[in-house]
Amino acid sequence: MELQFLGTGGGRYVTGMQRRKTGGIVIKTDETQVHVDPGPGGLVNSHEFLEHPEETEAVLVTHAHMDHFNDAQAIIEMMVEAYNNAGVLLANRTVLEGFGDLEKAISDYHQGLCGRVDTMKEGSTHEVGDLEIECQEMFHSDPKTIGFTVESSEKKIGFWTDTEFSGELVDLYSDCDTLVVFCSRPVDSATSSHTAVDEVPDIVEASDADTVILTHFGYKLLDEGVEEQKKWLEEKIDAKVVMAEDGMKFPGNRTLDAF
Ligand SMILES: [Zn+2]
Repeated sequence: MELQFLGTGGGRYVTGMQRRKTGGIVIKTDETQVHVDPGPGGLVNSHEFLEHPEETEAVLVTHAHMDHFNDAQAIIEMMVEAYNNAGVLLANRTVLEGFGDLEKAISDYHQGLCGRVDTMKEGSTHEVGDLEIECQEMFHSDPKTIGFTVESSEKKIGFWTDTEFSGELVDLYSDCDTLVVFCSRPVDSATSSHTAVDEVPDIVEASDADTVILTHFGYKLLDEGVEEQKKWLEEKIDAKVVMAEDGMKFPGNRTLDAF
């Protein structure tokens, strides 16, 4: 299993200014390719970075915020219309139906184009090609936001998505080899809906992960410096720390500063 980061920015300021790209993350195996959270630029970044955009056969959207769903419809049209894949859509309830004040984020037309549409919810599991995906609800301003793990025969990778930190959430990630943490905020600036760098050690310690990859950086973290945040974290945990970069492949690209 390989990951490629099409974008590593998060939040409205970084997204609006494109200080980092916001195209999401692609999970690749020999059998399948899944595009996670295609924010603004997701379609363009797919063609810019992926060797085989035509192999994307599923799109996964964790919640109904613009930096996560914006290009989902464009990716659906790419998969289904441009490249004749059946098209699998995995998304939380808010994205598919709307919830509370949040409107649905993918039109009925685009949901209808997909060969399969699954609702990701607390405890749900989903198969895409050779990947097994397991979900839980996180604590975020879209109350139905999904965190998940992806397992293939060789590896298990956990995705700690947008959420306030809570010890109740760590169990899902207990036997992951690698953790991807959507970490918007620098040390000492946790907010009620996003994860900060100083909360990462508790997440990593609860798992067996030997590598943690941070991504989805907000403006304050970028202003304070990615390298400084990495150094702080390296002093606290034994796991290898990778600060994701736009276009980065994991594992691989070892010439990049991130490694
Ligand atoms: Zn969000």
